[in-house]
Amino acid sequence: MKTTRRQFIKSVGLGTVTLAFPNLISTRCAAAKQPNILFIMSDDHAEQAISCYGSQLIETSHIDRIAHEGIRFENSFVTNSICAPSRAVLLTGKYSHMNGLRDNQDEFDGSQMTFPKLLQQAGYQTAMIGKWHLKTDPTGFDEWKILIDQGEYYNPTLIENGVRNEYIGYTTDLITDIAVESLNRRDRNRPFCMLVHHKAPHRNWMPNLKYLDVYNDRDLPLPETFYDDYADRQAAKEADMRIDDMYLSSDMKLNTGYYEKETGTGGNLASAPFAEMGWAASLARLTETQRKAWDAHYDRINEEFRDLKLTGDDLLRWKYQRYIKDYLSCILSVDESVGRLLEYLDEEGLNDNTLVVYTSDQGFYLGEHGWYDKRFMYEESLGMPLVMRYPDQMKSNRVSEKMVLNLDFAPTFLDFAGVEIPVEMQGESLRAITSGNGQGEWRDSIYYHYYEYPHGWHNVKRHYGVRTERYKLIHFYYDIDTWELFDLQRDPNELNNLYDDPDYTDIVNTLKTELERLQQKYGDTDIRI
Ligand code: CA
Repeated sequence: MKTTRRQFIKSVGLGTVTLAFPNLISTRCAAAKQPNILFIMSDDHAEQAISCYGSQLIETSHIDRIAHEGIRFENSFVTNSICAPSRAVLLTGKYSHMNGLRDNQDEFDGSQMTFPKLLQQAGYQTAMIGKWHLKTDPTGFDEWKILIDQGEYYNPTLIENGVRNEYIGYTTDLITDIAVESLNRRDRNRPFCMLVHHKAPHRNWMPNLKYLDVYNDRDLPLPETFYDDYADRQAAKEADMRIDDMYLSSDMKLNTGYYEKETGTGGNLASAPFAEMGWAASLARLTETQRKAWDAHYDRINEEFRDLKLTGDDLLRWKYQRYIKDYLSCILSVDESVGRLLEYLDEEGLNDNTLVVYTSDQGFYLGEHGWYDKRFMYEESLGMPLVMRYPDQMKSNRVSEKMVLNLDFAPTFLDFAGVEIPVEMQGESLRAITSGNGQGEWRDSIYYHYYEYPHGWHNVKRHYGVRTERYKLIHFYYDIDTWELFDLQRDPNELNNLYDDPDYTDIVNTLKTELERLQQKYGDTDIRI
């Protein structure tokens, strides 16, 4: 089926033809019932902080509702675990080396083919609301209202189809308000595709005022691998993303005068004075009323820190509690946003014919391996939460263990919309899986490639690798040449690098062959070591 479709596109001269003859596509698709698409994405939301993924840290009832009324992907992964690259992959359905955006320093080439452009050509109303982070202006959207770069947690500036507007309020709430207003203005005779992309819960985790005190009376458990010593894993040892090194100012939210001096590297790029300045600027954005409520919570924490005079492991544990409580509190607003959007669909009678997706641009470390941040091909940051609901075409309460990728989003949306999937897209439509007919062939390995080194934050070496259901092989390169092999069945926390274990020689060789096959398949063969 897929081959036939791709051969068809090839026969008329590749995907660009669809753009040249938009009427042809619109007419052809008009006959099919096209679903609305509501694509909600947050930033750095780990599966470990979603209750339908088994989290004991937080209750995310609205995100869980999508899973209960649809499908949850247990093995959903990102191809390059960092913000902008993940966004470029999901827009284009192509790996980073093909869409040209390898790391957060690159600019997105908006002239290339993306799924919103193809949906727009097919008659969809397209909108992008929230965090964009691709440096160039969005293309393929009738309406776009985006934060500048990373955006602010409070009182943000949004660029709205080129015009800057200032808002007062909490950004997660504002993005939701804007999305609902936009949906209210929609042409009810045409389907819509709306991307609602939150800034939260990205660093530096500033919660909504109303959720500041939720975790006051409760400490969260340390993850099992919190004290990892990175034995046999040189790249992990050299990474600069330990909770130990977080800033007392911008990360811990302490005010000058409440600690002796700023410590930590905070990621090895920004200096401690820079962090303090950034934190002062964030606080200065708050209105007088907001600042009063903010201080009512954080003054107590400042005073507690000053009085406790913590050092060593006590300080590390205190930092973890500060980090995880603010991180989780930010997610409470994201989950509330999901609830408001689902409620809107309920009220408008749009449930049955709307494909709702919740995901995050990648996973995150919540203290596992002693870390925050992402980037590594290890499970916590390779994982990417993914739940979907589409009552017309999906049964409820399903869980899929197939290995799916952010590469698959674009082809999936096009497939549901009845739009031809361009041959140049490298992902696969998830429709066969979501429809419950996924008995056919599916990939049994995934390919990963991370590039942001030596520039950028956190000192994580370039690496690529392959993951199968059971094993993971990673090669760190550039100014290092180390391999790591993990048996995910015996060692799910990835603490034992088996690469040099003679019992695993055959497995290493098999995985290297598979890695080369994937690099050939995806055209990623020009890797300079
Ligand atoms: Ca991110």
